Amino acid sequence: MTGLNIQNIHKAFGDKIALAGVSFQVAQREIVALLGPSGCGKSTLLAIIAGLEKPDQGDVEWDGTSLSHVPTHRRGFGLMFQDFALFPHRNVFENVAFGLRMAGLDERRIRERVQETLELVGLPGFGERDVNTLSGGEAQRVALARSLAPQPRLLMLDEPLGSLDRGLRERLAFDLRHILRDSRQTAIYVTHDQEEAFVIADRVVVMNAGQVEQIGAPQEIYRKPGSVFVARFLGLDNLIPGVIAPNATAGRAAHTAIGDFPAPDNIQGEVTILLRPDAARLDPNAPMQLQGVLEEVSFRGGVVQATLAVNGVALQFQFPATVSLPEPGSRLSLGFEPAEAIQIFPRHN
Ligand code: ADP
Ligand code: MG
Repeated sequence: MTGLNIQNIHKAFGDKIALAGVSFQVAQREIVALLGPSGCGKSTLLAIIAGLEKPDQGDVEWDGTSLSHVPTHRRGFGLMFQDFALFPHRNVFENVAFGLRMAGLDERRIRERVQETLELVGLPGFGERDVNTLSGGEAQRVALARSLAPQPRLLMLDEPLGSLDRGLRERLAFDLRHILRDSRQTAIYVTHDQEEAFVIADRVVVMNAGQVEQIGAPQEIYRKPGSVFVARFLGLDNLIPGVIAPNATAGRAAHTAIGDFPAPDNIQGEVTILLRPDAARLDPNAPMQLQGVLEEVSFRGGVVQATLAVNGVALQFQFPATVSLPEPGSRLSLGFEPAEAIQIFPRHN
């Protein structure tokens, strides 16, 4: 295969297992996000791909050839860290030119490429600027330009927006996607922020405790999280314990504190039920109804967040801001389409 192939990587530091059998691929020109909580092994994996750490087991291949004996500087990969440091005594031009000088390009080609890259990151004409006068967002773009300029065959970005405030992060994430796309850059983007991962990546690899939990396109992962861990990590918090047992009247059902739900044939015993917060409708004709007390309503820009207490269980739902909800304290019936609203996970995960 072409591109990057990560095969069954294991890595421990003393008795701390950082990676326990990680495998996935990155095709050429693909942008893959590595998404997971702090400590799940993301940076360790990047260090192994870059050749800065050796795996205990497993292999990293590029275009079908093992890199196990290829040193870092011969892999042709670029790495940008969260706490990237620009060279403080050089201007923007010289910062961006750094990798090109290392590669021995001639002066004319360096000028062209620096200019081209500064345009790509939205900073045309910034070459002469002192890097100490840049805003946080501008400094980030210069660091990105410095990583992109040598056209690495793979660019790895380790939480590059992590130190910026939320608003700027959202804007830069969107720009970053376009910059990586426009430069047809193959990239691995590491983050613990699912929105950032979803905005930037073609595919997302969700990691948990040194293992891959799920791989898929952003929409696939959001619509069908593969485990309770992924659901919770994405903020899908209506996770209700239940038990699947034969139901006298209606075949198999998952029994929970908020009622019975239709159960698939292939799951037995203790389960966790995900009730999607975005699947509730004010529709008395929907096939499934949940009755409760509307405890709280809060407006969050385009959506309204509502808390419905059903038999003492607080459930969160989101509605478009255009939906009119009754006053808090009212009884409310919400309608659901079970196939769209419910996912059932075996309890072991
Ligand atoms: P992430 O980038 O997802 O936050 P890391 O890859 O940095 O996670 O770390 C994974 C685990 O490995 C953590 O428990 C971390 O403490 C441990 N770890 C990482 N590097 C080292 C090291 N050089 N020595 C000891 N433990 C390490
Ligand atoms: Mg890290």
